[in-house]
Amino acid sequence: MALPKRRHSKTRGRKRRTHWKIASGNLAKCPQCKELKHNHRICPVCGYYKGKQVIEVKVKEKKKKQ
Ligand SMILES: [Zn+2]
Repeated sequence: MALPKRRHSKTRGRKRRTHWKIASGNLAKCPQCKELKHNHRICPVCGYYKGKQVIEVKVKEKKKKQ
């Protein structure tokens, strides 16, 4: 294995890593409510996944009343 001739400075390594970013994942339209949602996730708007209601969405309604 090749050995580095000189040690990289902390700054040099960090500068390279400025391009490391977390991708947010693919967005697709929810077939139930047509809102944008993440693929492979339950829709946060209507709580549907694979054509079934998986969770009840009540959190947003409570926040509006307050
Ligand atoms: Zn939905």
